[in-house]
Amino acid sequence: MDTVTTDIAIVGAGGAGLRAAIAVAEADPKVSVLLVSKVYPMRSHTCAAEGGAAGVIKSDDSLDYHFNDTVTGADWLADQDAVELFVNEIPRELTLLEHWGCPWSRESGGQVAVRPFGGMKIMRTWYAADKTGFHMLHTLFQTSLKFPSIKRLDEHFGVDLLVDDGRCHGLTAMEVRTGQMKMIKAKAVIIASGGAGRIFAFTTNGAIKTGDGMAMAYRAGVPLKDMEFVQYHPTGLPGSGILLTEGCRGEGGFLLNKDHYRYLQDYGLGPAEDKPRLKAMELGPRDRLSQAFYHESKKGRTVETKWGDVVYLDMRHLGEKLIDERLPLVRDLARSYVNADPVTDLVPVRPVVHYMMGGIHTDINAATSIDGLYAAGECACVTINGANRLGSNSLGELLVFGARAGRFAVEHARTAKTAGDIIEKQAAESEGRIKALFRRSKGKERVATLRNELTSSMEDGCGIYRTEETLRSTCDTITDLRARYQDLALEDHSNVFNTDLYQALELGCMIEVAHTVAQSALERKESRGAHQRLDHEARDDANYLKHSMAYYNPNGDPRIDYADVVITKSQPAARVYGGNAA
Ligand SMILES: Cc1cc2nc3c(=O)[nH]c(=O)nc-3n(C[C@H](O)[C@H](O)[C@H](O)COP(=O)(O)OP(=O)(O)OC[C@H]3O[C@@H](n4cnc5c(N)ncnc54)[C@H](O)[C@@H]3O)c2cc1C
Repeated sequence: MDTVTTDIAIVGAGGAGLRAAIAVAEADPKVSVLLVSKVYPMRSHTCAAEGGAAGVIKSDDSLDYHFNDTVTGADWLADQDAVELFVNEIPRELTLLEHWGCPWSRESGGQVAVRPFGGMKIMRTWYAADKTGFHMLHTLFQTSLKFPSIKRLDEHFGVDLLVDDGRCHGLTAMEVRTGQMKMIKAKAVIIASGGAGRIFAFTTNGAIKTGDGMAMAYRAGVPLKDMEFVQYHPTGLPGSGILLTEGCRGEGGFLLNKDHYRYLQDYGLGPAEDKPRLKAMELGPRDRLSQAFYHESKKGRTVETKWGDVVYLDMRHLGEKLIDERLPLVRDLARSYVNADPVTDLVPVRPVVHYMMGGIHTDINAATSIDGLYAAGECACVTINGANRLGSNSLGELLVFGARAGRFAVEHARTAKTAGDIIEKQAAESEGRIKALFRRSKGKERVATLRNELTSSMEDGCGIYRTEETLRSTCDTITDLRARYQDLALEDHSNVFNTDLYQALELGCMIEVAHTVAQSALERKESRGAHQRLDHEARDDANYLKHSMAYYNPNGDPRIDYADVVITKSQPAARVYGGNAA
């Protein structure tokens, strides 16, 4: 096995990974940094982000407002010290991106433009038309190219962490093109591998979002925090799950039921005539909007289609000029995928799995419980999102905490101890595991079959609303799939771009991550944010104002423990939108 040596290895070259790499290079150009990514950086999911990134910039706004919106949106499950740090640092990060060349959309006077976003009671979302992530990722990628200390291993699949005596000393990775395993020795490792929306059948997430980095850290002993909180975005295109950004509603789009009625006024999200619009209705938070869809559908007020029930997104009143200027991608997507032109037609939409609030447990410095192991971006849970993330806080999160992970990793690398021989043995075992999987041809199970069973079971049992019964059934299915995974057979035995092999590796990660979601949801007997139990409808602060922590158990269900939430200045209260508590 080849060995590659670097000071800092980063798993993932999306927004968080690139921002971390730049922070390392800026902190100390002598520290070498290696970005290990299973796809070419510009194919990371950050590229797909549409709507924008929130950060206080306008005179009618304040850091306290952004703090309060985020903590309320999180149903008080966010750590308030982390939120405070986040809202303070994000304007500087967004401005830095501007200096690096990010083409933020402008007002006519030349100032940065902001748009409204769900759950944000003031306009503060910076955007670049509806291709914000594309422009941010380009900016970060081109900036990373300026630093000679940043090297890349593109199309290398990170497999296992190497840990000796509670310290992380690197990882193993497989070169996708050749199937060769490599041992990457590093003084510190940052996981920036993105989310895991693919554990659900219907999702906005790209095919690569299979939770690999979460599973790597979890198997190595780091708890996964708040995994039961899975965000459904209210406006996905039926059939494909492609997202229509919240920017559609930010710019003034309406949600209508089958009677063309703005049904959200019936769900504690404010009256239709509420002014300013920002407080109400379509600009309520995502958990509430997705839950309202569920109830409309139970009442028979949604529209049946061959892809399931839908409601309508109405943007016709916005006019062609505004749509072309601010939502050109949305127009393109709606025309291409559901044959509806937002300028003249109602666009069918339905809730779709979009984002994992939970992830690798880190402290405010992006450090995990393993010395020298850091995590940032969607794979991590620091936690600023709590039980429900507000749209446009994630792009900011990956900048702020990606940069922090980089800076703290540099400090750690300066004093890191040398690894013992045990990591060579671990790397050999990791290679052995892959080879055994690769050679297997006699098993009965196929990757696609197990994956389909997993994702539909998650959708059925762990969706917008959950009960003890549905969650138990999903947990049982996962236990069964875990056993059947051992009987997997690969059909492709070549070394070159063996997608069968790396999809098998991804499936292994998906099963572990899904297990933590279902088990944490089963054990949280309350309703909060995106976790809604029909059998425990109320929020229960006395027992569950706590982070869940899922610990790996190779032979059974994850062990769920709990940790305190950091509350500094905002005491839990009712969540109020549009003048109504609900
Ligand atoms: C369609 C869509 C629109 C969105 N719009 C917005 C928005 O407008 N505003 C907002 O704030 N948020 C938005 N989000 C959420 C936000 O875009 C993501 O949470 C964020 O971009 C994640 O960034 P990341 O750097 O953590 O991960 P990603 O960008 O997903 O990058 C992950 C990286 O990890 C690598 N990787 C994964 N596994 C491995 C492995 N095993 N080995 C090696 N490398 C690996 C991948 O190659 C990739 O480079 C949107 C999300 C989606 C899906």
